[in-house]
Amino acid sequence: MYEYRCKLCGTVEPADTRAQARALRDAHRDDFHGPDEIVEVPRMRFVDLPREQKIATVVVALVLLVGILVKTG
Ligand SMILES: [Zn+2]
Repeated sequence: MYEYRCKLCGTVEPADTRAQARALRDAHRDDFHGPDEIVEVPRMRFVDLPREQKIATVVVALVLLVGILVKTG
């Protein structure tokens, strides 16, 4: 004898087998807490940044570069 217990909402559903409990869990998640999904997010590339952010990134890089030059030079 098995039971599916939802720790989010406290629902308890009896099941005869572990597989049945898993199926109950999937259905319960879809019905009451879903839908959810797992998606692959493409890495952010420099060229995809908004213009202001590109400028800010270049400025920060230049400031760092100048700082390093001043320290080591
Ligand atoms: Zn639940």
